[in-house]
Amino acid sequence: MMAYQDQPAGGQNRRLVVVSNRLPVALEKTGDKWTLRPGAGGLVTALAPVLRERGGLWIGWSGAAGAGDEIQAMLDAHSRRAGYSLHPIELDEDEVGGYYNGFSNEIVWPLFHDLQSRCRFLPEYWRSYLEVNFKFAEEVARRTSPEDFVWVHDYHLMHQAFFIKSMGVKRNTGFFLHIPFPAPDIFLKLPWRWKLIQALLDFDLLGFQTMRDRQNFILCARALAPECRVKGRGAVVTVGIGQREARAGSFPISIDFDDFAGTAAGDKVAAMSLDIREALRQRTLILGVDRLDYTKGIPERLRSIRTTFRRYPDLKGRMTFIQILVPSREAVGEYQDLKTEVEQLVGRINGEFSFPGWVPVHYQYRSLPREELMAYYRAADMALVTPLRDGMNLVAKEYCACNVLGNGVLILSEFAGAAAQLQKNAYLVNPHDLEGVARAIHRTFYWDNAERARNMAGLRASIRRQDIYWWLDSFLRAGLSGDLGGFPAQRSVCFAGR
Ligand code: UDP
Repeated sequence: MMAYQDQPAGGQNRRLVVVSNRLPVALEKTGDKWTLRPGAGGLVTALAPVLRERGGLWIGWSGAAGAGDEIQAMLDAHSRRAGYSLHPIELDEDEVGGYYNGFSNEIVWPLFHDLQSRCRFLPEYWRSYLEVNFKFAEEVARRTSPEDFVWVHDYHLMHQAFFIKSMGVKRNTGFFLHIPFPAPDIFLKLPWRWKLIQALLDFDLLGFQTMRDRQNFILCARALAPECRVKGRGAVVTVGIGQREARAGSFPISIDFDDFAGTAAGDKVAAMSLDIREALRQRTLILGVDRLDYTKGIPERLRSIRTTFRRYPDLKGRMTFIQILVPSREAVGEYQDLKTEVEQLVGRINGEFSFPGWVPVHYQYRSLPREELMAYYRAADMALVTPLRDGMNLVAKEYCACNVLGNGVLILSEFAGAAAQLQKNAYLVNPHDLEGVARAIHRTFYWDNAERARNMAGLRASIRRQDIYWWLDSFLRAGLSGDLGGFPAQRSVCFAGR
């Protein structure tokens, strides 16, 4: 095997090597010229600062067809600026179709979000997923040394440890699942369920967003292998089947609280936020921000808004709902259909309730620059975060961090991972219960200042305490030293009622 090439930064011999589907950059082609933009989004936001501080390597698909010298040169230049190395994996069209669009996004994504009826269990997707995982694993093995800690991210790459081991290569590996892990009734539909459970147990450390996700994983392992061993309690357990054994913990991902709070408190965001409020004539502003995805429960949310105005006419003319929808996977038919459904609902609701001077739903289909997004967060009196299922949901946390005046309200789905941490001070709802959500909106609309302030202070304190650095530190501490001790167990969600 080739010796690894990337030297550890700063004399450390234990580098952090991150492996994810995509590199943390976006490569775009205009004419025949490529440009590179540092990526945005949850994972990049989470990891880039840490890699920058300690040096390291990130391995992932560049997203560009055919790597080529020009792209490699751009990645190298970016690596120098970023303070850590980027190594691209090339994928051809068939691989993207089978491994990424197919297995990852037409099987694992819907299944793990409890939407098994949307799955297409095609055997060729599975084969492509294995081939691409093998391709990644070969690069990981080649470019790392036994001292490195290899941290694999998310559902696209669940077979990394399996293939690394099958090559006879010893690496310390950790895996973090950003999406939920489903309950056995759902997971067991997967034709390759047993292979997947075994592959996951080849990692040294498995990280889930919540205790419930970890528990689901254990229940699935037990359902398939009654001899499955679970040792330990609380936040720390060891799960084993036969020769395989992994430690498993829950590590709820978060945001850079101080960065969001600091920028939102600044003059620029304050001025933009004031403009938004003035444009809405100081009406109560309720906000939804989501990527276009069927897991986010956007049609259900709009129906709840319609139910709110039907049931509670006292809110007509006094409350405006803004839905920001960030374009995503527009080429996929299902996503186009969802967009059409959302737009039709917005039209119908506005048709039913608008009067001169007031439109109940404002809808924006675009990606917002960071400070503008923060201005919306800051301006909003209430956030309506109601996914049908979500690994964590960072929007909920970002909203609270940006609520620098401390008087906002978070209405949060019980089925968002964030509910496990924020249940004490968020108003939890079942997103399928249109009347329940409408009731939550009506009740919190009339919360007095003291109630708002108390709950928002609780939310902000909790997010500040368990921020992105806490998350990284917890996972890395567990991965590097095997020490999960002292890590606080999360409580499970108390549901909104029967
Ligand atoms: N976001 C963005 N552009 C926008 C609106 C939102 O990049 O115009 C970001 C937002 O700041 C958040 C992420 O998109 O960090 C959404 O993360 P979340 O965990 O809520 O959901 P995901 O899209 O990862 O499922």
